[in-house]
Amino acid sequence: MTAKVTPMMEQYLALKEEAAGALLFYRMGDFFELFFDDAKEAAGILDIALTSRGEHGGDPVPMCGVPVHAAEGYLARLIKAGCRVAIAEQVETPEEAKERAREEGRPVSKALVKRDIVRFVTAGTLTEEALLEPRRANLLAAICNVRGTIGIATADISTGQMVLEDCAPESLPAALARIAASELVAPDGWEDAPEPADLRDQSEFSSDAGEKQLKTIHGLATLDGLGDFSRAMLAAAGGLIAYLEHAGRGNLPFLLPPVVREPGTHLAMDEATRSSLEIHVSQKGDRSGSLLAAVDRCVTGAGARQLAEDLGAPLALQQPIEQRLALVARLHGDPLLRADLRGILRAIPDIGRAIGRIVAGRGSPRDLGQLRDGLDQARKVQELMAGQSDLPDLLQRLLPALRGHGALVDHLQRALVTSPPTERGQGGYIAEGYDAALDELRGISSNARRAIAAMEARYREDTGIAALKIKHNGVLGYFIEVPSRHADALMTPESGFTHRQTMASAVRFNSIQLHEEATRIAEAGGHALAAEEAHFEDLVSQTIASREPIAATAAALARLDVSAGLAERADEGNWCRPDIAADPLLEITEGRHPVVEAALAASGERFVANDCLLKPDDRLWLVGGPNMGGKSTFLRQNALIVLMAQAGSFVPASRARIGLTDRLFSRVGASDNLAQGRSTFMVEMVETAAILSQATERSFVILDEVGRGTSTYDGLALAWAVVEAVHETNRSRCLFATHYHELSRLVETCDALSLHHVRAREWKGDLVLLHELAEGPADRSYGLAVAKLAGVSKPVLARATQVLGRLEKGRAETGGLAAGLGELPLFAAALEEEETVDPVRERLNGIEVDALSPREALEILYELKRAADSTES
Ligand code: ATP
Repeated sequence: MTAKVTPMMEQYLALKEEAAGALLFYRMGDFFELFFDDAKEAAGILDIALTSRGEHGGDPVPMCGVPVHAAEGYLARLIKAGCRVAIAEQVETPEEAKERAREEGRPVSKALVKRDIVRFVTAGTLTEEALLEPRRANLLAAICNVRGTIGIATADISTGQMVLEDCAPESLPAALARIAASELVAPDGWEDAPEPADLRDQSEFSSDAGEKQLKTIHGLATLDGLGDFSRAMLAAAGGLIAYLEHAGRGNLPFLLPPVVREPGTHLAMDEATRSSLEIHVSQKGDRSGSLLAAVDRCVTGAGARQLAEDLGAPLALQQPIEQRLALVARLHGDPLLRADLRGILRAIPDIGRAIGRIVAGRGSPRDLGQLRDGLDQARKVQELMAGQSDLPDLLQRLLPALRGHGALVDHLQRALVTSPPTERGQGGYIAEGYDAALDELRGISSNARRAIAAMEARYREDTGIAALKIKHNGVLGYFIEVPSRHADALMTPESGFTHRQTMASAVRFNSIQLHEEATRIAEAGGHALAAEEAHFEDLVSQTIASREPIAATAAALARLDVSAGLAERADEGNWCRPDIAADPLLEITEGRHPVVEAALAASGERFVANDCLLKPDDRLWLVGGPNMGGKSTFLRQNALIVLMAQAGSFVPASRARIGLTDRLFSRVGASDNLAQGRSTFMVEMVETAAILSQATERSFVILDEVGRGTSTYDGLALAWAVVEAVHETNRSRCLFATHYHELSRLVETCDALSLHHVRAREWKGDLVLLHELAEGPADRSYGLAVAKLAGVSKPVLARATQVLGRLEKGRAETGGLAAGLGELPLFAAALEEEETVDPVRERLNGIEVDALSPREALEILYELKRAADSTES
């Protein structure tokens, strides 16, 4: 049986096919409707009612809908839940549809409004304020492999920024972790394409097409002036632009000329390092508890986005780092200037994203208003800063970008009302005095409105009906309304009123005069709207002409906000300006962990500052000491200080000299990574292998209890070998935290290695953790004392003490575990011996026979029998 399909359903199904892989928002009047499985999925995610409408194939069609005016909020939730949405709009009015039906000889009554998918809304292609987080960049990335080189194209279309880079296949995971795109596209047929890339047709990733598109977008005959682009970069750019065209159905969003990211310009960090240092999010996945949250004092969204980018990709070149630091220092040293600057910045709207929306064709009068205000404030910032003495280089370079928008600002100021609306439909955003013809049209409307008000008073007087009113609604327009009991008097032709509608308690009329005034209002209103619309288009195109300088202004403001925010934070936390040195050293005096310190401060506790002094002939520190003593904190704080310094920030220390670092590695032994389906120890070893193969003399490595994830011997042996390799082969600066006392012996063979420990003291039987770093090996491990602190029960602690005694006795007899790794098995022998002790014999040893009553003796005999039976079974 072939069910009859209605024309609307036919149209819907065709659109749905085009929208493959996306939920289809099908516009019907004031709603976007979803049908079939789309409706079920969306209703579940949005928690809205699932209803049904008509039938299809004999079954009711599931349906749900969201009002158009509130669609953004619903879209935001769907995108967050990982959906993509295709928006099918009505692309003609019902009148046009009827006209078309008439022309094509179809019944006018059944004319169906034409609909088209106007846009795909996906996580990486958002521009709307409501769909974006103000303090987070939103990136789309495209990758492809061209003869063994991976090209990566990244764009934040909300601000137009675009970056191209090459990387080796093995570095791709690290690059993707750095970029953290909201959406990733890759060509189909690429076997090793990383998850969760959206696979697009291979032909879209063509370097020729990419080159051509970039030239067209930027109106260039050659790309030479923009940078040196590899084939892989261009192919990735091609894939990115093709995807943007697909998502925008042919409309391209804002794209600035691409910037090439050169290798070696940034501090390299892999995925494991990023997550272990909790740069943007804590291990729990929250922003709070991250380095970013502890450092961010930006007063604008754009500044916060820039800071996140800086911390995620610190620099590896001395000069640009120094330039950033010099600007922070200038603002740090001048709190009054800083306060003034931040005061102005705080009031500046997000002009980078406003211009993004305008170029994408999704701009509103409000966006124009934001640009007007933001660009005007930028000029004030320029004036404030240019008037200062000792302008650092970076500031001098930023200042010109803050001005030059005078004509545009002036035009927007004259053209727009103070607070323009986000919607254009109702007009009212063009200011009075900007266009005399528009003012006249508005004058006609308001005169006519006044005339209608006068008419109402006159009619009341003439008819003697005090309850007579002239009202307006969307269906009838203007009409005269009287209560039913007065209606008869007006029903006569002489009254001058014509009947329009009878309601339950009122009757509505029209009059020739009212009709005339109403027509005047409608015509003038229509003309006024059209005039405003024309002005809007004009303002938009004038604004678009300045899109690149506007983006440069936005970038300069963001950089100033970052610098002022860092200066503020440094002041607040008593941070110091780091010295960047060319030699591979790391001299941190009284260093602190920015996140742990803030957390402790919140509960009124003090952070204990510690020094870290690494230099070529003392470049590897072994750090021992009790659990909870602060080893991990010490390791991480030094890695964070390096990262912060190279991002251009002051650092939590009283003094810091940092040898420029090329790569930063952070590893935590046996961290759980079960989600990837590898055992923790496997992960630990894969990550350690990466360090040993990549770390250089300029790298800084922190290794936290590597080797912990396996049996004692294997773990110790591996830790031993790893320390030796880092010391001898990589020759990196390294902090290595460990529980293995045995590693202390390495000091005898590794001349650039030294021993350190976090101090603890036992006081009246309790452990006091001092969190203070001292030279020399840890005297003992305090594991049992920590267990006691943690509340492990007395019998278990007593038993552990007993076992420990035997183990230590064994160790003393064999000359220690590290007397030679070959002697290690004896360590186990001690334990085995302990475990084979016969419980029956133990019990018997503990009995004082003469002190027993016959009954007690009998009970013990039963007990021993039971114990003997259970050991046998
Ligand atoms: P484990 O060996 O169990 O991993 P650890 O020695 O690495 O322990 P951390 O995790 O670094 O210890 O620190 C434990 C806790 O001690 C931290 O959460 C923090 O509250 C506190 N702490 C660490 N360092 C300091 C410090 N320098 N000053 C004050 N408190 C600190």
